[in-house]
Amino acid sequence: MKILVLNCGSSSLKYQLIDMEQEKVMAQGLLERIGIPGSLLTHIPNGNAGEKVKISRDVPDHKVGIQMVIAALQDENHGVIKDMGEIDAVGHRVVHGGEKFADSVIIDDEVMKVLHECAELAPLHNPANILGIEACSSLMPGVPQVAVFDTAFHQTVPQEAHIYGLPYEYYEKYAVRRYGFHGTSHKYVARRCARLLGRPLEELKIVTCHLGNGCSLTAVKNGISIDTSLGFGTISGPIMGTRCGDVDPAVIPFLMEKEGLTAAEMNNILYKKSGLLGISGVSSDMRDIEAAAAEGNERAQLALDIFAYMNRKYIGAYAAAMGGLDAIVFTAGIGENGIAIREKICQGLEFLGAVIDPEKNKVRGQEAEISRDGSTVKIYVIPTNEELMIAQDTLELVKGRRGCCCCR
Ligand code: ADP
Repeated sequence: MKILVLNCGSSSLKYQLIDMEQEKVMAQGLLERIGIPGSLLTHIPNGNAGEKVKISRDVPDHKVGIQMVIAALQDENHGVIKDMGEIDAVGHRVVHGGEKFADSVIIDDEVMKVLHECAELAPLHNPANILGIEACSSLMPGVPQVAVFDTAFHQTVPQEAHIYGLPYEYYEKYAVRRYGFHGTSHKYVARRCARLLGRPLEELKIVTCHLGNGCSLTAVKNGISIDTSLGFGTISGPIMGTRCGDVDPAVIPFLMEKEGLTAAEMNNILYKKSGLLGISGVSSDMRDIEAAAAEGNERAQLALDIFAYMNRKYIGAYAAAMGGLDAIVFTAGIGENGIAIREKICQGLEFLGAVIDPEKNKVRGQEAEISRDGSTVKIYVIPTNEELMIAQDTLELVKGRRGCCCCR
């Protein structure tokens, strides 16, 4: 079975065609500047090993974009399938499933209605995801489509961890609560971690640390998410590249008054001008921060210290929330590649039984155990693979291996 995995943003679209027999990527690519002059498709046949093909053509909307992707997949020179009919199903990354979806779901009219309702909660993302689904429906009628939500894995987080200390009516009126994101990534690495440990996921207490430009940590107890650091929006938890992380909410009206900021301007500061960038004044990129700190830039060093401290604090908090800890997993750009920052985060966790091995820790972008022999808490680097997780969910649903709708 061949599954097309689509991740549609407002002006970009990422795709992978995966042959599920061997879970092998047949082709992947990125279409940029949808609706903006100068659209560019970068298509890579045969996974990462293939040579990049660049195709530029104006792409006014997502439908034309997906048409272009399908044409590239079938092209006689750089295509990997003969006919569009070889695509058995499409799996879509959908950012927000609100409270309605606790699992992936086969898309039908009812699901589309709910997706439109959830758009208010993720105004930058869900509308683009919907456009991608609608385009596929008209270009590939009859091909089953599945929505895999960033929020779904966290729908198991109990009320005590997802209701904020605000008047309850705001939860009732506007669904203001913690949702959590990066769920597909947390779920994937937690499953891989159980495999590497050789123990059932249902018995384990794991903290998964997804550290990329956006960061979130999740407490995965007995295979389900019981707490996660992102919330209603995507700015809580440890500091991130440009996002502020946990800040006393009192600061926000104070700054708005002092600086005469509108809500939109304040939001822009919290999401785009804070975090590593805001503290260091250097960059939002961890590599630049590390380089600047090594040259003696004190604010870059401070940003590093804060990043490590906040992550360490969350790991400790989640160990307490779960009543123990079997493993810590690092994933995403910083988690998979940041040797020094992983070591810095783990310094001080020895009391929990988590001891990092500086030698084993010298790995980038590959699955590895990085804890010292005898460390009771195992520490792993596990590259995330959200596309494969989406394809696996799509396959299971399309083959009817599990119930299709988990709507509550
Ligand atoms: P996104 O959340 O946009 O998908 P990524 O998961 O690609 O982001 O992560 C990007 C982050 O990973 C950047 O801060 C980048 O500096 C960091 N990163 C990539 N390689 C390294 C490295 N070798 N050492 C430290 N950080 C790295």
